This record gives sequence, C-alpha cells and structure tokens, in this order.
Amino acid sequence: MTSEEKEFLFYAVMGYDYLKRMKHLSGDTLASLCKKAFPTINYEIYRSKIKNIRSLANKYKQEFGGKEAFCKWYVEQYDKQHGRCAYCGVSEAKCRHFFEQQRPDALVGSKRVRGFHLELEHKKANLHGHKENCVLACYVCNNAKSDFLSEEDFKTIAAGISAFWEKK
Ligand SMILES: [Zn+2]
Repeated sequence: MTSEEKEFLFYAVMGYDYLKRMKHLSGDTLASLCKKAFPTINYEIYRSKIKNIRSLANKYKQEFGGKEAFCKWYVEQYDKQHGRCAYCGVSEAKCRHFFEQQRPDALVGSKRVRGFHLELEHKKANLHGHKENCVLACYVCNNAKSDFLSEEDFKTIAAGISAFWEKK
C-alpha cells in the first residue's frame, strides 16, 4: 500500500465527522470528503473494505484502547502482511474474488458475509489485549485454527489451506 492509501483507509474508517474535523473539509458524504482529501483514490472500490475494517474496529476497539488505535494498527498490520493471510499467505484480493464467485449477491445491501476480507486472529486464543498477539488471517484459516492449536501446530494445516488456494 502507498502511504496515501494507508492514510485514506484510516480516515475513511474513522468516518465522516472525524475526517471533516481533522482535515477541515466540508461535504455531504464521507465519499465526497474522501474525494477532496484523497483525489487520486477511487472511494467506490474500497467501500466494502471500509465497512469491514469499521466492523472490526467496533468489535475490537476496547481491546486496542480505542477505535483510532485499532485503525492505526490495522493499516500498519495489513501493509506489513502485504494484504495476505498471516498463515496461508493468500491475498485478500484472491479471497474476495473466490467468494464473489461463490456468493455473487453477498456484498449487496447491509448484511455481513464473511470470507471477502481478512479477519482478526489471536495467535494465542486466550491472550487478549496484546497487539503483538494479533494478526490478520483469511476466513478459511480463522475458521480452521481452533483454540487448542498453537501457531506452530497450525503450520501444517496452513500449508494445506495454501494448497487449496493455489488450485483456485
Ligand atoms: Zn489463510
């Protein structure tokens, strides 16, 4: 990700009021503010990703010490992982493409459907409140990694999931 994309995602997830206040902008919608603040970025292609990060932020904000802290962590972590699952290495773009074929109507409307985006994974299942214990993982890995499996144990399973994605 470019630094502009990182900044864009951060502000877009933080939302309309935050962006308006921090960048001293005016406009009717978040999309219109984003167009002013980040003219080279096409807001529309990020719409479902922004929704996804926002729902993660709402779910995990307490654990990360606030929505802002979560969003900062997310964009850095996503960039560090090059937009790929921490376990099997599949790209989020590939997950999205695969699930779009499976469920073409899934992103229409407000219902939340898993699979399209990377999810937050706790490497040690019972260790909460530590950013270093969190990574982003694909839906398949997140579902497969039961609480009793360590990161090390999961390596052989992740290799199988990686082979699954290779064939798609
Ligand atoms: Zn994975």
